[in-house]
Amino acid sequence: MSGPKILLVASEALPFVKTGGLADVVGALPKYLTALGADVRVMIPKHSVVKERYQDELEQVAVSEVHLGWRRKYLGIQTMVLDGIRYYFIDNEDYFSGPVYRGGDAESEQYMYFCRAVLESVKLIDFTPDVIHCNDWQTGMIPMLLRTQYGLTAMNSIRTVFTIHNIKFQGMMGFGLMQDVLEIPDRYYAPRYVEANGCANMMKAGLVFADRITTVSPTYAKEILHPYFGMGMEGMLHARRADLVGIVNGIDVGEFDPRRDPALAVNYDTESMNLKWENKKTLRNRFGLKASIYDPVICMVTRMTPQKGLDLVQNVLEELLHSDLSFVLLGSGDRKYVNFFNYIAGKYPGKAGIYIGYSEELARQIYAGGDFLLMPSQFEPCGLSQMIAQRYGTLPIVRETGGLVDTVVPYNRFTKEGDGFSFGAFNAHDMQHVIRLALEVFRDKPTLNRLKKNAMLKDNSFMGSAKQYLDLYEEIG
Ligand code: ADP
Repeated sequence: MSGPKILLVASEALPFVKTGGLADVVGALPKYLTALGADVRVMIPKHSVVKERYQDELEQVAVSEVHLGWRRKYLGIQTMVLDGIRYYFIDNEDYFSGPVYRGGDAESEQYMYFCRAVLESVKLIDFTPDVIHCNDWQTGMIPMLLRTQYGLTAMNSIRTVFTIHNIKFQGMMGFGLMQDVLEIPDRYYAPRYVEANGCANMMKAGLVFADRITTVSPTYAKEILHPYFGMGMEGMLHARRADLVGIVNGIDVGEFDPRRDPALAVNYDTESMNLKWENKKTLRNRFGLKASIYDPVICMVTRMTPQKGLDLVQNVLEELLHSDLSFVLLGSGDRKYVNFFNYIAGKYPGKAGIYIGYSEELARQIYAGGDFLLMPSQFEPCGLSQMIAQRYGTLPIVRETGGLVDTVVPYNRFTKEGDGFSFGAFNAHDMQHVIRLALEVFRDKPTLNRLKKNAMLKDNSFMGSAKQYLDLYEEIG
């Protein structure tokens, strides 16, 4: 292979382990980069779910030890090839046998170990990358350690890219802990390095030391230069804005394909949209929905956090439920939202179908069986749900922020074109107004069908973005 050698590093990747959209991206991107000729390998922790499902297929590459200050920690490197991509797993039961994210200082230590282990592993595997592509704060120390502690080794020529998937989570801790685990000298505890708001900050280490910074949509790349979105990183990002670029995520269109998705009751494409109807029936049965089949189903598939705009939904949902529509939600997260949606399920049986939990299969059935997907995010680096929904002919109703701006063409009532609906201000009544517009369009079948077709035929694949990443690697490699 003649393309660049890339080591893609993250805390999670499909199909091995997923808690959010990061796993989808790290799962899909290598496939497209490989198709473009890059030699991409992926390195993630060997979380217990990986052990449970893939233990028999894993091969041991090396066993070693990692020094974390005074600690000596086991380092196992295991590997397997899946769909032509080589994956490496960092094996250490102390750190990765429990939850993927342990919370608090335990989580900081978990991922400081991971950063150190990745760099030590590069010496032990038979692969010297041109670029280590780091993702989110869990990998933030890699660019810093590489520049400040590995400068005199052969690894000095390795370049780094740091991708921000969500700037809200930064990996903060007391500097004492960072210093103790990674032997960082005092002088780096300064605002121009790892200090932010009186804490040591792993994401900041990545932002300061990476050769290039990317984030997952062009709009989010602009937004994070402002304090509202930048979460304290805006100053550093301003300083580095010449090295910051937004590359919109895509989805794995082979994986999310209504023509062959085995989770669906009936498969369909743009030529057989009437079969999408069968999926709507299945969804109705699944949740015991009683509203007429001719009425729309508005869905959500979401982490339940304030980021996802659930406060707006909470404000107007009961009012909306008095209209001729059904509401379906699949989600898990904050207790206050769980309580609210359980209350809704109890008060509106047959109108609202609520499933609290995580289910990949049900998510796909909802994308296929719904008419609209509501995603009124407060901020959204890119968002994948809206793209998956489009692929399944379910029209997204989104707030104009981050990647939602870059991936949804809002319905234009004059040209009757678009592939979704959007509203600007983070305000429940603006959202309700646009939902009403969507409900009007729902009754205009020719327009509705055109919008659905536009959505399904849209190129939401990773190919265009993978080319941009490749150009970036080649530029710095
Ligand atoms: P984020 O990464 O911020 O949670 P994204 O829209 O980028 O949001 O990605 C979310 C991904 O996780 C999508 O693939 C979505 O279908 C999936 N997802 C979210 N919540 C659930 C759930 N409760 N069950 C199954 N899949 C979910």
